[in-house]
Amino acid sequence: MSNEINDEVFNIGIVNLSEHDSLIIDLLPSNENRSTILHQLLKGYGLYNPLSSESESFERVKYDYATLVQLLNFHDSGYLVELLKERNWDNYTNDLSKHQSKILDKLKLKKNQIASDRQALSSCSSLEFDADNDDDNDDDDDDSRLEKYGLLHDCPIFPFLPQYVNLTAGTTISATEWLMNQSKDKQNIAINWTGGRHHARKSKASGFCYVNDITLGILNMRRRYKKVGYLDLDLHHGDGVSGSFKFSDRVLTISLHFCDVGFFPGSGVELGDGGGLGKGKGFDWNIPLKKGFSDSSLDWILSNVVLPKLTQFGCDSIVVQCGGDGLCSDTAYSEWNLTIKGYGLAVFKFVKTLKVDCLLLGGGGYNNLETAKLWTFITGLFVNGAEKSLGWNLMPDNIDDEIVNFGEFEFWANDQPSNMQDRNDIEYLNLVSNKFNLS
Ligand SMILES: [Zn+2]
Repeated sequence: MSNEINDEVFNIGIVNLSEHDSLIIDLLPSNENRSTILHQLLKGYGLYNPLSSESESFERVKYDYATLVQLLNFHDSGYLVELLKERNWDNYTNDLSKHQSKILDKLKLKKNQIASDRQALSSCSSLEFDADNDDDNDDDDDDSRLEKYGLLHDCPIFPFLPQYVNLTAGTTISATEWLMNQSKDKQNIAINWTGGRHHARKSKASGFCYVNDITLGILNMRRRYKKVGYLDLDLHHGDGVSGSFKFSDRVLTISLHFCDVGFFPGSGVELGDGGGLGKGKGFDWNIPLKKGFSDSSLDWILSNVVLPKLTQFGCDSIVVQCGGDGLCSDTAYSEWNLTIKGYGLAVFKFVKTLKVDCLLLGGGGYNNLETAKLWTFITGLFVNGAEKSLGWNLMPDNIDDEIVNFGEFEFWANDQPSNMQDRNDIEYLNLVSNKFNLS
């Protein structure tokens, strides 16, 4: 396998956040510190700075914070007012976790950078909002308004939320800009692990997702590409993205997700063409999966169902959401049984076989270290090929162990599937294939 991979067939652009911007992403309550862990791993394996890397096949994508005009391409203005308004953040520090308080302290030490971020934000805020609610001039948050916009419970307000939102959307939009500006002599791969927030709605936060950077990215890609494929590999249904394009015949969405009674978000339950409407009928596909979903089943479905479907559709670009909550090592869920090796190699093979421009995004994944390893491994596969990346044994020695707090020093230490049975047997896989009507 390695021989055919080391030909530098890819032209790769990676969004690597600055230390300061990583800290802002680290404040996300569901994934505290994950961004910094990821960037330390990318640095440790020589995947952060192309100038100091052995490989010349990648470059860093220059990214910007999203502007209000860009966010308005999808999100509702009233929701954005709520999301982006400056609050008296001192009122929010009591609710912070120990990790978040530490992150905040580090951010406060970086005053100069904060000043420049404020500038970026104020240029965004100074634009006219076309909002029907004008009661946004103070910082006393009224619960009914926050509830309406989904900004309680799993998506609470936290310090630096406006910057978090602008950064999450801005990095994905910048990655799509980079992708669209490349020549066609190689397959172009843009990577933004900061993005992938697939649950956010037009005017509502949902499932740890405040801004739907994926929808914003695909909307931008449609300016250049005729047909965009979207593949969602997160444990949860990609409801926000499929809902965004339900009327479109130019975006084909396919979501693989765990499905069970009461499991969030509760949609995407029916196997086949789920929610496409009007001319979008036939372009919104769900593959609900059962417990124990394994590497071999993932590879089977990508090869026998997803690839032929996207080829039949004729996509000239693909976006892949690589959520890590289906890993066997995930700490919040133990529904699926994927390994980093199996998942990474399946994605690599899939993208390479499809041979179209590709945007790789992150998503869920609640074992922060293992999810960061998954994304580092996938990055390594595209930049350096399989042989070198599979050969990673020891963790890089320059990782801040105060943040990572890992007890083992081997990269693959936790990458062992459990003995859970894969209930997605060959009969079910064939049923999936038949539903897609590919025979
Ligand atoms: Zn998820």
